[in-house]
Amino acid sequence: MRIDLHTHSTASDGTTPPADLVRDAHAAGLDVLGITDHDTDAGWAEAARAAEQVGLTLVRGMEVSTRHRGEGVHLLAYLPDPTYPPLVETLGKVLGGRGQRLPLMVAALAEHGVHLTEEEVRAANPGTDVVGRPHVADAMVAKGYVASRDEAFARWLGPGRPAYVDRWAAPLVETIRLVTEAGGVTVVAHPWARGRAGALPAQELAVLRDAGLTGVEVDHQDHDEAARAGLRALAGELDLVVTGSSDHHGLGKVDHDLGCNTTAPEQYERLLDAAVRAAAASDREPPAVLVG
Ligand code: AMP
Ligand code: ZN
Ligand code: FE
Ligand code: FE
Repeated sequence: MRIDLHTHSTASDGTTPPADLVRDAHAAGLDVLGITDHDTDAGWAEAARAAEQVGLTLVRGMEVSTRHRGEGVHLLAYLPDPTYPPLVETLGKVLGGRGQRLPLMVAALAEHGVHLTEEEVRAANPGTDVVGRPHVADAMVAKGYVASRDEAFARWLGPGRPAYVDRWAAPLVETIRLVTEAGGVTVVAHPWARGRAGALPAQELAVLRDAGLTGVEVDHQDHDEAARAGLRALAGELDLVVTGSSDHHGLGKVDHDLGCNTTAPEQYERLLDAAVRAAAASDREPPAVLVG
């Protein structure tokens, strides 16, 4: 059984529509796919219809933009009830922060001779409200300022670059609790991605586990072998579920092909067991867990 639990569609900053993402996953030999667009469940319904058609198991998720001790942390939330009002409110605030950041990025770029309008950025993916730096990058590519998303981040949009602008993110520990209350489970995405190990050392992962965190993403393209080995050992000590994923973004990220990293079936079963427990404890109607 091949399981990829972290992917993006055009519901956020991936370049593949949700139904095509599911079909691509099936064609790539995957049996289970997690759709985890940034800060939204907007792709779930379309993906679920396609999953039913091709006979693939879909795990409904999202990647929530959070902050912990001043550092940005991406939190994968699987199977929460997306209508739980505190979750809706939090995602609304994240979206508001994205909206406030966009004119500031456009202004910063203009100061450096890169002229884009907000409309041009939104036109990069008219199907989503979740406007991110990748869409700014796409607009820069479309106007010939850079050759790729990568170049746009390296020269303009990454931390410390001239058009980098911070935005609001949800408090991490509170978000773990909130997703649990919504009947879902949480996994920290790429916790030790390049140069980031300092933000979530062992003692912080223990704090998050005590707050209800279920797992850590270990096998990810942004983790080298040493990070993977260290995190895997730590997950064992802390009894956290270990996941692996492609973090696929369609054409938006190179070297993130569907299924390039996968989650072991027994770890996936542990994650689902935790989701069943959270759903039972939540008194809330959980979204259909799976199709196929
Ligand atoms: P934002 O959500 O607007 O803060 O942008 C973050 C998104 O940009 C994440 O989905 C990252 O995967 C993506 N990203 C970060 N660095 C790069 C890069 N060098 N090339 C393409 N996408 C990137
Ligand atoms: Zn992304
Ligand atoms: Fe991420
Ligand atoms: Fe991601």
